[in-house]
Amino acid sequence: MNIPHQRLRDFVTAIFRAAGCKDAEAERVATHLVEANLVGHDSHGVIRVASYVQWLKAGKVLADRAIEVVFENDAIAVVDGQFGFGQTIGEEAMKIGIAKCAKHGVAVVALRNSGHLGRIGDWPLMAAAAGKLSLHFVNTTGAGILVAPFGGIERRLSANPIAAGIPVTGRPPILLDISACTLAEGKIRVALNKGVSVPENCIIDSKGKPTTDPKVFYANPPGAILPIAAHKGYGLAFLCEVLAGALTGGGCSNVKNADRVINGMLSIFVDPNFFQTDAVFTAELERFIAWVKSSEKVEVGGEILLPGEIEERTKMKRLRDGIEIDATTWSQLAATAQSVGISEII
Ligand code: NAD
Repeated sequence: MNIPHQRLRDFVTAIFRAAGCKDAEAERVATHLVEANLVGHDSHGVIRVASYVQWLKAGKVLADRAIEVVFENDAIAVVDGQFGFGQTIGEEAMKIGIAKCAKHGVAVVALRNSGHLGRIGDWPLMAAAAGKLSLHFVNTTGAGILVAPFGGIERRLSANPIAAGIPVTGRPPILLDISACTLAEGKIRVALNKGVSVPENCIIDSKGKPTTDPKVFYANPPGAILPIAAHKGYGLAFLCEVLAGALTGGGCSNVKNADRVINGMLSIFVDPNFFQTDAVFTAELERFIAWVKSSEKVEVGGEILLPGEIEERTKMKRLRDGIEIDATTWSQLAATAQSVGISEII
């Protein structure tokens, strides 16, 4: 099915409203999920609606929560998301960081106990829209222990996304948005729903044997995701757990918390204008970008993209052509809508 983004957003907004969120939060959650589909990260798009609604019904995520500030000074805030929707809590955390950074040139926000923060790229983009460079380290202390450590075969770490946004005058922000594991779990679920294989060298079965079958990952005993770049990705994932888990107070991956999905995030904000004039910073970035892109290409007619460019292109296309939703995801969406009393399915 190809659905225009506005219709999908309205439908998902209606689902969250019927499930118990106030209008503003229902629209906010829907907007972030549909944005993830628009930029091509279907793993963090409306495929999540069914589980978000289940978590809401089970009291594992709470509607219309606000951040509680645990500690703050001029440049630091330690905040607690109170198990609210990550889309609401994440926006609030960014506003705090952006405001502190605007005054002092740097700021660090340590967020714990947030509901699922979705596509982490949303947060550096929000900071970049306010002219701030930012870096975000995320873990999932609860359900979401998915990744085997380098040298191991059992799940010990979460997917551990790292995201960074760089505002550049005159062009869209540069956006790096990657998890420290080879494949976001949502992408394995997308493959399962579509009945297709996952790429090679991404997952192992419960005995540590490489596989491309998404069913094996969800088997009992389960498989695990491999870290990116072997020991280096494992090292980055470990760092994420420490910054987003131990430093925020939310906790590193811990089976004791496995009954709900809880994200922690350490966000570092920098105002480039405190370090360089905009003209100098922009000129250096433009020189560097042109130099990087001038490399001879692997393939004739090939292209070198900046981090974030592929998402912008996908967004232009999907804004124009609509968002393709596979049959399984669609039937899950429709069943979720019915479960909250919506009979008219778009
Ligand atoms: P991915 O492998 O698709 O990588 C995305 C990044 O690579 C982007 O910065 C993109 O611009 C860049 N990129 C892609 N193709 C490129 C190319 N040809 N040239 C240059 N750059 C290119 O992402 P992923 O690791 O699968 O993560 C997917 C999403 O899942 C992310 O949005 C992430 O934030 C999210 N996630 C969230 C959680 C959570 O707990 N909330 C956990 C894991 C992942």
